[in-house]
Amino acid sequence: MATAQLAGMSTLNALQQLGASLPPAPRMPAMFVGHGSPMNAIEDNIYHRKWQELGKQLPRPKAILSISAHWLTPDTRVTAMAKPKTIHDFGGFPKKLFDQEYPAPGTPEFAELTAKLLTYSHVAPDYNWGLDHGTWSVLLPMFPLANIPVFQLGIVYAQPPEYHYQLGKQLNALRDKGVMIIGSGNMVHNLGRIDWDGTGKVYDWAQEFDTKITGWIDAGDTASVLNYQKIMGNLADIAHPSNDHFLPLFYILGMKQPNETPEYFNDKFDMGSISMRSFILRS
Ligand code: ZN
Repeated sequence: MATAQLAGMSTLNALQQLGASLPPAPRMPAMFVGHGSPMNAIEDNIYHRKWQELGKQLPRPKAILSISAHWLTPDTRVTAMAKPKTIHDFGGFPKKLFDQEYPAPGTPEFAELTAKLLTYSHVAPDYNWGLDHGTWSVLLPMFPLANIPVFQLGIVYAQPPEYHYQLGKQLNALRDKGVMIIGSGNMVHNLGRIDWDGTGKVYDWAQEFDTKITGWIDAGDTASVLNYQKIMGNLADIAHPSNDHFLPLFYILGMKQPNETPEYFNDKFDMGSISMRSFILRS
């Protein structure tokens, strides 16, 4: 039997196990969230306020899976500890940001199910990471009580967009089991070109990249998004000198269903070279 068929069968088995072990739950949204500066976690600004607003509107998930640009791993991993620590993976920010904790529990059960579900790649449990700021800076305003279990999926940086997209397709099944999924990165992310003077200007290349990607997403042209580097060349390199903050988007695109239209929010630029454009998929 062909490998693809075997993989398909084991996905089916994993899904049947998921179905058998968990009661039905309302389908949960999936979101690509531009997180930007870690200060957005605690600063009263338009991004922070939108995250607060969403938290009040969204259905309450059984668990949240975060795919954060700040956890790059050599192989595919899920955090499987009961009590993930808050990771302050940044420097040069005020003490009150370092003092901030997000004490949400983990969910070893969903981590195990996720590992079974992802037949596209072997998935190992992880007991060392925790919640990095790509995850908790968004969740703190969104779900401030920190009482919904959260787990993370590591991103294998060396893999091409197609790999992340395929994993996203398989992860989609978790949404029907009560898991909300967040891909946390940025649509445009060039820290070297940040406008520290706060002039409010947006670089032409940043605007162009953001507009092109959004156009492809809206047109359902997934192939062009996946091949953005070949198609855009230098424009892709300047928008993402390293594409760690772009990779979470491919997971969320993989989850998009035909009846789901991306709803954009926070579609602004921060410091000229960071696109905060985010979108939610819900059906
Ligand atoms: Zn970041």
